[in-house]
Amino acid sequence: MAGAHYSVEGSVALITMDNPPVNGLGYATRVALVDGLQTANADPKVNAIVLRGSGKAFSGGADIREFGTPKAWMEPNLLSLIRYVEQSDKPVIAAIHAVVMGGGLELALGCHYRICARGTQVALPEVKLGLLPGAGGTQRLPRAIGLQHALNMIVSGSTVMSERFAGTRLFDQIVDGDPLPAALAFAEKVVSEGSRKPLVRDLSVREPHAEAYLQFARNVVQSSSKGYPAPMNCLEAVAASVKLPFDEGLKRERALFVELMATEESRALRHLFFAERSASKIPDIGAEVQPRSVRKVALIGAGTMGGGITMNFVNVGIPVVLLETRQDALDRGMATIRGNYENSARKGKLKAEQVQERLGLIHPTLDYADLKDCDMVIEAVFEDMTVKEDVFRRLDSVMKPGAILATNTSTLDVDRIASFTSRPADVIGTHFFSPANVMRLLEVVRGKHTAKDVLATTMQLARTIRKTAVVSGVCDGFIGNRMIEQYSRQGLLLLEEGCTPDQVDKALESWGMAMGPFRMGDLAGNDVGWYIRKRRYQERPDMKYPQIADKLCEMGRFGQKTGKGWYQYAPGKRDAVPDPVVNELIVKHREELGVRPRRIGKDEIVQRLVYALVNEGARILEEGIALRASDIDMVYVTGYGFPPYRGGPMCFADGVGLYNVVQAMRRFADNPHAAPEFWTPAPLLSRLAREGKGFNG
Ligand code: NAD
Repeated sequence: MAGAHYSVEGSVALITMDNPPVNGLGYATRVALVDGLQTANADPKVNAIVLRGSGKAFSGGADIREFGTPKAWMEPNLLSLIRYVEQSDKPVIAAIHAVVMGGGLELALGCHYRICARGTQVALPEVKLGLLPGAGGTQRLPRAIGLQHALNMIVSGSTVMSERFAGTRLFDQIVDGDPLPAALAFAEKVVSEGSRKPLVRDLSVREPHAEAYLQFARNVVQSSSKGYPAPMNCLEAVAASVKLPFDEGLKRERALFVELMATEESRALRHLFFAERSASKIPDIGAEVQPRSVRKVALIGAGTMGGGITMNFVNVGIPVVLLETRQDALDRGMATIRGNYENSARKGKLKAEQVQERLGLIHPTLDYADLKDCDMVIEAVFEDMTVKEDVFRRLDSVMKPGAILATNTSTLDVDRIASFTSRPADVIGTHFFSPANVMRLLEVVRGKHTAKDVLATTMQLARTIRKTAVVSGVCDGFIGNRMIEQYSRQGLLLLEEGCTPDQVDKALESWGMAMGPFRMGDLAGNDVGWYIRKRRYQERPDMKYPQIADKLCEMGRFGQKTGKGWYQYAPGKRDAVPDPVVNELIVKHREELGVRPRRIGKDEIVQRLVYALVNEGARILEEGIALRASDIDMVYVTGYGFPPYRGGPMCFADGVGLYNVVQAMRRFADNPHAAPEFWTPAPLLSRLAREGKGFNG
C-alpha cells in the first residue's frame, strides 16, 4: 500500500502512515488509510486498530506538495477520512509520537483514543497560512482541552508540548518513548472491557462564562490582528463549538474556511510559505554538489555589521576569530557584543553562563596569522574599494586553500573584489541586513566565478545560522537595495510635488509597510543615501534625482544618529516628530523649482512607491539577477518590512493584475515630476501584462 502499511499483531490491526518526510495526509495516504480501516473492520480476527506514523512524525498535516491542486480535495478528503475513523465499528487508537500538527491532529482527534509520547509537538498552525483548521479542528479541540486553551492554540498557531495536555481529554495516556507498546496494551484493555468512551465530537465544551470570554477574546484578537482576517475567523469557528451542535459547528467552520481560502491575505501567506522553500533551490546546483565543511569562521571588521554577524555564528556554537586594525576598535566591537548579550540576559532570554559561553567562542585579534585555520572569512570593513582590495589581498595570502572568502559589501562589485585574489572561485557575497543578529534576510551574491560548492556551502550555512537566504546576481545594490533606491526616489519626488515626509510615511505605513521611506532613511542614516547619490551623479547624469535630500544632508540632518533628519528626535528617543524646519525647506525647494504643490491622495502615494519596486523588480528578474519572482518577494518581506499579508511586491502586483499595474505606470509617465523615463514598464512586465499572466505564474 503506497502511503500507509497494514499489518496485524495478534488481534490488533496496525495502520502505519508512510509518506516522508512527515506523513503528510496526501491523497495516496488517505486512500491507504481508508483501505486499512475497511480491511480491519472486515477481518474477524481483528478487534481493534492502532493508527501511527512511521519515521519522524505521527503526521505533520496536509501534504504541502498537493496544496492548490485538485488532489488536495479528492475523495476521500480529510473530512471523509475522519468520518471513516469515527464510524469504525472497532475502536481506533492513535499512537502519536514526535509531531502531530494540522490535519494530523484533526485526524487524531477523530480517533476513539489517543496515546501520546512525551515531548511530542502539538499544533494547529493553519492561521499562519491565513487559514483555519478546516477538518473539524476548531470543533473538536475545544471539546478536548477546553475553550480558552484551544482558542489560544488555534488563533496563534503555536506549538505546545504534549505533556502540557496531561489531565485533558486530548490524550488518554502520555508515555515515555515509543507509544506503540502502550497503544497495543491499551487496545487489548479496551477490547476486554468492552466499553467505549464517547467520541470527542460527542463531548460538550465546558466553559462556565463562555460568552463573556469570547467577547473579551474578540476585542483582543480584533486589535492585534491588523491586516489579517484569519485570526478572527478562527475565533468565530471556535465560538461555534460552544454555541452550535457538532455538525452545525462543522458547517460553520467550513464556511469560515472557504471565506479565508479566497482572501488575498491567505493567498499571500501561502505564496510566502512556498517562496521560502524555493529560495533555497538553485537550478544548476543539485544534490551532487557537496558543500564544504565550515567549523570556524573569521570576521574582518568589528563595526556595526561585523559584530552582529559574529553573534549569528557564536549563537549556534561556531567559533569566530574577529579581526580589527586597531585595539580600540576591537575593544569597542567586543563591548557592543557583550552589551547585546547582557541585555538579552537581563530580559531573561539567555542565562549568564550562556553569555560567557558565547563570548568565549570569540577570539578577538589584530593579527592575520590567527585566521589561517578558518574555513570561511566574512569581510565587513568600510565600504571603500581600496580598503576592500587591501583586505582581500591579505586574505588571499593567509587563508588556507579551500577557505571561502565572503564580502558583506552592500554596493560594491563582488567580481571586482574577487579579482583581487588568486582564487575568485572561492569568493562570494554575503549581504547581511542591519541589525545582523536580528534580521532574517541574507542576500547571497553569486559572482561570475563563484564555485558551485561555495554557493551551496553558503546557502547551507545560512540555514545553520537561521537566515532566509536568497541568491542574487552581481549588480549595484543587488536585489533589495537596487529596488529600494527607486522606491525612495519616488518618495523624494512626491515631496517636490506637494507631500510632506509624514504624509508619505503614514500612507505607506497604513498600507502595511513597517516603516515609511523617510523614517527608514532617518534610521539607516541619510548620509548613506547621500554617498550613493554622489556616485550616481557621476555615473548616471541622466537619472533625475530630487536635490531636496542633498539639501537636508548639507544641514547635517543624517537622521536618528544626529537627532535630526526628515524628523526631529528627542534625546535618547526614537519617536519621529515632524519638524517645521524640514517643511519650510521643502516649500522653499518647490519655489526654487517653480512647482505649484498639489494635493496627493494616499492611493497615489502607495502606488508610486510600490509600483517603483515592481518595475525595478521586473528588470532584476529579466536580467537574471533574481532567479524567480518569489525570491524578490522573500527579500522584501524578510529584509524591508513589506507586509507579509501582501506577499511581497511581485505577488502584490500579481493580485492587482499586471495589466492594471501597467496602466497606472502609463499615468505616472504622463506626470513630468514623477521621473517619466522610469515609468516605461520593463519589457517582461509589459509582456506578462499583455498575455494576462503574473510574475509568479
Ligand atoms: P562600520 O563603520 O560600523 O564598521 C567597519 C569596521 O571595519 C570598523 O570597526 C573599522 O575599524 C573596521 N575596519 C576598517 N578597515 C579595516 C581593515 N582594513 N581591516 C580590519 N578592519 C577594518 O561599518 P558597517 O556598517 O559595519 O559596514 C561594514 C560593511 O557592511 C560595509 O561594506 C557596508 O557597506 C556593509 N553593510 C552595512 C550595512 C549597514 O546597515 N550598516 C548593511 C549591510 C551591509
